[in-house]
Amino acid sequence: MSLHTRSVAELAAGLRNKEFSAVELARHFLARIRASNPALNAFVTVTEERALADAARADADRAAGRAGPLTGVPVAHKDIFCTDGIKTSCGSRMLDNFVAPYDATVVERLAAAGTVLLGKTNMDEFAMGSSNETSFYGPVRNPWDLDKVPGGSSGGSAAAVAARLVPAATGTDTGGSIRQPAALVGISGIKPTYGRVSRYGMVAFASSLDQGGVMAPSAADCALLLGAMAGFDPRDSTSVNVPVPDYAAGLKTSLKGLRVGVLKEFFAAGLDGATGALVEGAIAQLRAQGAEVREVSCPNLPLSVPTYYVVAPAECSSNLSRFDGVRFGHRCSEPRDLMDLYRRSRGEGFGAEVKRRIMTGTYVLSAGYYDAYYLKAQKVRSLITADFQRAFAEVDVLAGPTSPTPAFAIGAKVDDPITMYLNDIYTIGANLAGLPAISVPCGFVGGLPVGLQLIGPHFGEERLLGTAHAFQCETDFHRRVPAAYA
Ligand code: GLN
Repeated sequence: MSLHTRSVAELAAGLRNKEFSAVELARHFLARIRASNPALNAFVTVTEERALADAARADADRAAGRAGPLTGVPVAHKDIFCTDGIKTSCGSRMLDNFVAPYDATVVERLAAAGTVLLGKTNMDEFAMGSSNETSFYGPVRNPWDLDKVPGGSSGGSAAAVAARLVPAATGTDTGGSIRQPAALVGISGIKPTYGRVSRYGMVAFASSLDQGGVMAPSAADCALLLGAMAGFDPRDSTSVNVPVPDYAAGLKTSLKGLRVGVLKEFFAAGLDGATGALVEGAIAQLRAQGAEVREVSCPNLPLSVPTYYVVAPAECSSNLSRFDGVRFGHRCSEPRDLMDLYRRSRGEGFGAEVKRRIMTGTYVLSAGYYDAYYLKAQKVRSLITADFQRAFAEVDVLAGPTSPTPAFAIGAKVDDPITMYLNDIYTIGANLAGLPAISVPCGFVGGLPVGLQLIGPHFGEERLLGTAHAFQCETDFHRRVPAAYA
């Protein structure tokens, strides 16, 4: 089996058994990136020297008997995670010149686990988008069809993993940005419970929704990496001090007695027929493996898109006020005065979608409209959270599609924000309620992958990964690699 089609666990075993060294592994993936990144545009920065140094250290650690389960495994980070001494652009012209002076906790933890950093992946600007078309560095292409989007905003991580340019990558999910791109490129991706993974050093978009997670071919791979990333961090005040289970050890193969709720609202108008049929097929597979399946309803869920598009822009308008051309980031040339400095630095540094969000957010927070929009949205957010709580009194996991359609053509929706926003109709609910959710591949429509989404109760990552793993023990969609990258 070629190196790049092995899972994270298989690569780790190969390293352990000295079938290949970490340096050989890093070289293999770096060569793949060199060959395929010009067409895919999945990486903003390739950290070749750093990768070889990390790999040499991993080999030395192994020789000295200091290797852990991930020592020598290559990874990539979404370019939203601060990396000490490495450009951290957030997909924006604003941060094109920004070299982070410290590591995000996620970066620090994965490095401490012995992983090898191959580079930083492309993304929608400040994680605002569902197609990777808002990036300052241009769109990322879907390895299954180069004319299609890979989803967003973690589209670079998604395309890189799907094309096997890296075995696993980090992502962030504010309204679906791990799960939707995972679905559109046929890999697995988990957004943990809000507070499970530290946000320290992760550039903020909407702080009450943002959560880091991982994207990899299988749920078992995600389990290995999430175990190394998760856990309490005193530097993030919303990080939760709950012990991290051994996700990899907790993977199950039986679904006997698992209560699966099929979310009625997720199968209403708007879902592509062929996509819906595959997701129903996947749910039938869960039943065949022993799960008890019943329909459940979360009646306020259809309000999640309008709620999110008040809350997220409000928070982003506040978070992005720090980019003012003064301390870091883009500064316009020869400002006339302070107002001119602010205006032109922000005007030049931010792209159209980011500006649209800042304006919407500023509006909904303004004195005259705060009650009508922001406060109302927060109330609906509570209703949605309560709906989920009721559902989890009846079932263990909720199931449905991740995205209403397979990958769409580059350019097809970029000029129509409302249509673009509807991509997140099935993913946003979990963010509003802070719940963990995973997307796993469950079939293909016209050669393009489709994802099954599973949502769990707070801190239900182990259950989600276990359910997804059991499904992947009986299906092989997660093993398929686009022909050009096999
Ligand atoms: N697509 C959604 C948005 O544009 C979600 C993005 C995300 O999860 N970062 O805001």
